[in-house]
Amino acid sequence: DLTQPTIPFDNSYARLPERFFTRLDPTPVKAPALIRVNEPLAAELGLDPAQLAAPGGVAALSGNRPPAGAAPLAQVYAGHQFGGWSAQLGDGRAILLGEVVDRAGRRRDIQLKGSGPTPYSRMGDGRAPLGPVLREYIVSEAMAALGAPTTRALAAVATGETVLREDGPLPGGVITRVAASHIRVGTFQYFGARRDEDALARLVDYCIRRHWPEATGAAGLLEAVIAAQARLIAKWMSLGFIHGVMNTDNMAISGETIDYGPCAFLDGFDPAKKFSFIDRQGRYAYANQPGIGHWNLSRLAVALIPLLGETEEAAVNVAQGALDAYPGLFEAEWRRLFGLKLGLEGPDAGLAEELLALMAAEGVDFTLTFRRLADAAAGEEDALRSLFADGAALDAWLGRWRAAPGARDAAAMRAANPLYIPRNHLVEQAIRAGYAGDYRPFEALLEVLSNPFDMQEGHERYAAPPALDEVVANTFC
Ligand code: AMP
Ligand code: MG
Ligand code: MG
Repeated sequence: DLTQPTIPFDNSYARLPERFFTRLDPTPVKAPALIRVNEPLAAELGLDPAQLAAPGGVAALSGNRPPAGAAPLAQVYAGHQFGGWSAQLGDGRAILLGEVVDRAGRRRDIQLKGSGPTPYSRMGDGRAPLGPVLREYIVSEAMAALGAPTTRALAAVATGETVLREDGPLPGGVITRVAASHIRVGTFQYFGARRDEDALARLVDYCIRRHWPEATGAAGLLEAVIAAQARLIAKWMSLGFIHGVMNTDNMAISGETIDYGPCAFLDGFDPAKKFSFIDRQGRYAYANQPGIGHWNLSRLAVALIPLLGETEEAAVNVAQGALDAYPGLFEAEWRRLFGLKLGLEGPDAGLAEELLALMAAEGVDFTLTFRRLADAAAGEEDALRSLFADGAALDAWLGRWRAAPGARDAAAMRAANPLYIPRNHLVEQAIRAGYAGDYRPFEALLEVLSNPFDMQEGHERYAAPPALDEVVANTFC
């Protein structure tokens, strides 16, 4: 019975001019098998998870039969990748099925990723190995539970086909991704570079309606995106999250984290840390993220120049003014978030930086340090102290922390400092088992990560840093 799932599509992007995309269907796969449907997310979208998990639903989620009402298309965009310009990129392995308006009235994209080649694929096969599908599922759902704006994972399926990668053939997968939209800085760059002002104006108008209804004009949109990205990247920093590929085509206008590739969370703190195998120079290392965000936003501003003023000089002034706000916005949000992490009253006034310097000197675990500081607030300092070799430096810092104004309320601090993050070695274990057809570690990890701030009995190993032989040095996409 291949009864189709009921998905109340309302596809606004497909009503934009044809040069915004290429219409095409996903490429069918040999033997689709459901790995998981995200039931709470399905409910949020007003969809029936049982329908999605039934054969007709799996046919839709694998790309074998687009559901009724879909308007499948690949979006075109451009972008700077590792600083180098590409005038045309686009969904090379993803197909937007369409949009639904969720129960809260928010318009959300439903997109398949790993769904076959498109005119924008260039060299690639349009497919995704199972590993990256499982990683994106785990990390994007963890980010949502951690309170970071992010795309979501609605489902994962195995394709029953293999994809060829550097180290040989791997089982393939398709992830169904849900996003506020998939419009990127690179979408604006595509039309900006072509001097297609009509398309730019359409895109500005579309993004304002969809994401920033209170913004006025291209300048208002630019300011809104800058503020949202400043907040997002500060949130990443507060979680020890490294995106890994902050190319302009991977930066969403909505302010959501998007395009999870070789992303990772820090274990031991090192500001210069990077995991991505392809990021040889560390361009997208942890501490570089705020500055790269600023640079990417300057690319957005450049694309918008034709719409920012009557003369080029006026437009450049508007762009510069908007961009100049970014460091202050980022800094304020960073201080607010770290003030919360330290349990202090108001934004951090330097104590967080001092603690981070102590952590960096010894490579102390980022997540555990802040979590155990909450225990210290409750009078139990031993667990925190055991993380540091230099006890005297920590004690001196703790003295300054105790003297700073603030409640240092342990419960509030635990609500700001997660115990469970998607640690790389756990993600790798879940992926390895998944390749062997065992999705139990994937399921178990998702379950723990759905509630990252509350201690869960019997799950100590999910909170622990990797053993020496478990440390993941590089991530691949
Ligand atoms: P990413 O680094 O994943 O953001 O991808 C950058 C660009 O390469 C995007 O336009 C992708 O659609 C494209 N791409 C990545 N992987 C593949 C693939 N396997 N097949 C085709 N295109 C791909
Ligand atoms: Mg077209
Ligand atoms: Mg991308």
